[in-house]
Amino acid sequence: MKDIKAMLPDELAAALKEMGEPAYRAKQIFQWLTRGVASFDEMTNLSKPLREKLQSSFSITSLKMLRKQVSAHDGTIKYLWELPDGNAVETVVMRYHHGNTVCISSQVGCRQGCAFCASTIGGLIRGLESSEMLEEVLSSERESGLKISNIVLMGIGEPLDNFDSVVRFLRLVNHPDGANIGMRHISLSTCGLIERFDDLAALDLQLTLSVSLHAPDDETRSRIMPANRGRGVEALIDACERYYRRTGRRISFEYAMIDGVNDTPKHAKLLARHAKRISAHVNLIPLNHVEERAFQPSTPEHLQQFIHILEREGVNVTVRRRLGSDVDASCGQLRKKVAEGRG
Ligand code: SAH
Repeated sequence: MKDIKAMLPDELAAALKEMGEPAYRAKQIFQWLTRGVASFDEMTNLSKPLREKLQSSFSITSLKMLRKQVSAHDGTIKYLWELPDGNAVETVVMRYHHGNTVCISSQVGCRQGCAFCASTIGGLIRGLESSEMLEEVLSSERESGLKISNIVLMGIGEPLDNFDSVVRFLRLVNHPDGANIGMRHISLSTCGLIERFDDLAALDLQLTLSVSLHAPDDETRSRIMPANRGRGVEALIDACERYYRRTGRRISFEYAMIDGVNDTPKHAKLLARHAKRISAHVNLIPLNHVEERAFQPSTPEHLQQFIHILEREGVNVTVRRRLGSDVDASCGQLRKKVAEGRG
């Protein structure tokens, strides 16, 4: 059985042609799938024989809601979805003034090993299929009743470690006959798998690339992010520069402020140098404390001092608001809790 939700309308049209059906059926089917039908029988503008043929050749991927938590502070919604094979992933819907943003997972677990992150604790199980990522967006939209206008690939997993499925997902969710979410409304966040940056740039997708930098020097970065070992900050900034030159899209640096680890004036100055070199935007994130991890968020004084240095250097800097802190809304925390029977 072929996963029909992972097929782009062109591919669907080609498959239908082989079945002796006209190409325009592809658009009808794609639209039904976007609306979330659970079976081919619900596609009432298709003939019964065609519905039966489709039924015998294709499966329709859907997610089952295991948990839903709504933040009492800010309305952030966190979903835990069960995938067709029984694994579970998290999706978060955040309500911003500029529109509702969905934060989706790209893998079940993660193998990047960042020392402050909850998603990586059990390692990687598998990458998500494009259809599963698409359903994170569509199921969240349907279930919440909120129109989604922005997507961030900042949930569980490393998107560039699941490159082909992620790119396919981007094309599916961007398609005008489907969810039609513009690439400029999509951010992809990476821990810096630089060997994939040129491939991504070559696709010229116009999305925003966010780089989880978290430290501006190799000593600090390799300590907290194993992905830095064997690659290095210099090579990362070079790759960012090439990406920026080629796509014209400014890169955003994510920087979680960790007490006593990456939050000194020395770190701020070196970070400013990197940011200025490639006109990157810096997004400071107050660290979310993870039970299993020893790290603590920086003090407000150190955060202020850090911001002050970046601003003095002329860097474009913002501090991320903490949404959904009462619903375990940071990477991997809910999935872990439920898996351990503590949820
Ligand atoms: N693998 C990708 C995307 C997933 S994580 C990446 O590394 O970018 C999304 C963001 O949350 C990353 O910037 C990640 O470093 C950050 N993050 C992970 N754990 C965190 C924590 N405990 N507190 C704050 N940010 C965290």
